[in-house]
Amino acid sequence: MSSPAAENLGITPNLGAMFERRLTRQIRVGDVAVGGGAPVSVQSMTTTKTADVEGTLAQIYALAGAGADIVRCTCNEEEAAEGLAQMVPRSPVPLVADIHFQYRLALAAMEAGVQALRLNPGNIRKPEQIKTVAREAKDRGLPIRIGVNAGSLDPDIAEAHGGATPEALVASAQRELAYFAEVGFEDVKISVKSSNVPVMIDAYRLLSETVDAPLHLGVTEAGPPPAGLVKSTVGIGTLLAEGIGDTIRFSLTADPVEEARAGRQLLETLGLRERKGLDLIACPSCGRAEVDVIRVAKDAQAALEDRNIPLQVAVMGCVVNGPGEAREADLGIAAGRGKGHLFVKGKVVRVVPEAEMVDALVVEAERIIEEGFDAVLASADAGAEAEAERTREELLQIQGTDANQAAEKIERIREVAE
Ligand code: SF4
Repeated sequence: MSSPAAENLGITPNLGAMFERRLTRQIRVGDVAVGGGAPVSVQSMTTTKTADVEGTLAQIYALAGAGADIVRCTCNEEEAAEGLAQMVPRSPVPLVADIHFQYRLALAAMEAGVQALRLNPGNIRKPEQIKTVAREAKDRGLPIRIGVNAGSLDPDIAEAHGGATPEALVASAQRELAYFAEVGFEDVKISVKSSNVPVMIDAYRLLSETVDAPLHLGVTEAGPPPAGLVKSTVGIGTLLAEGIGDTIRFSLTADPVEEARAGRQLLETLGLRERKGLDLIACPSCGRAEVDVIRVAKDAQAALEDRNIPLQVAVMGCVVNGPGEAREADLGIAAGRGKGHLFVKGKVVRVVPEAEMVDALVVEAERIIEEGFDAVLASADAGAEAEAERTREELLQIQGTDANQAAEKIERIREVAE
């Protein structure tokens, strides 16, 4: 428990953990609270082309299923911003746009509706451009991560500090904070990443003594496993055990699903997040939803969680995109035209009346546990895939191809990105 002395130092107790967390300000990335005693969140980043909407969404779902609370996508070209406009309404987790050199793409990403931005102070250096982005983010109530990276530090800061030292990384973050302060923007989280683990650890220690903003921890370019896992675990784990850090990302040269899984495992190991049994994921519901996703997801959670079923189960609002978006899930159900389309590993195996969606999920989950995936896939109802396809076509006819009115946003993105 927290001692009076610890409380005076701004340290809060963390239930279940062996150590205490340093109290930071709280921001919100969509519906995920970061800092201020909120559970430490896991982040990861997609590796697909952001303009590839279906491929990227499938990866986002896989990352969410592996434990990512927030996913970042690169926004390196106008087509990426347009892709984000189509993905934001369909993503199960908040999306952060990673901005590289062009501040206009930050404006375009905000038009797309992302829940946060990441700016690298070493890449966008013109104060007026930085302030323009911060002003717009402030107006929209969007947070920004100041993502300092040792490999792309401002040359003048590196020179003044004799290289990418912990002090130099913190100075870069402070310079960006000062620009933000000029326009009254303080909805930030900060990272000071280095591929050198001792430098990274010292930089975050120094930063946590300097600011009260929530901190995003990571070892940059950690490389492939096992070395990348070791470096990230040592760097991030050391800081978390000191109570520093509000959100984390493992940067591995590997399938990003491994990043999300490793991040989640580290937090569970440290007692910072609860262990998962059943992993129920649900789409956010968008203009295509054919059912009350929140209600069905709640009912499915209640029906499945007591059965100790170690499966990832997806509840999806429509059969147009649901089975594809959640194709990495073990089992799922997607609504459409009064029916539930039950899918296993992305393949529709059965079609049931909408009122029986939850019961059908339970039956199929128990069958998977008893008989295995191959047997369940082999006994799929003949015609289930074709029926789902027919319903998809009907819904597309009724709803059109732009159920989320992304075209309007894309038009606006083209104006601001020019
Ligand atoms: Fe995706 Fe359909 Fe859910 Fe919309 S309703 S988020 S398209 S599954």
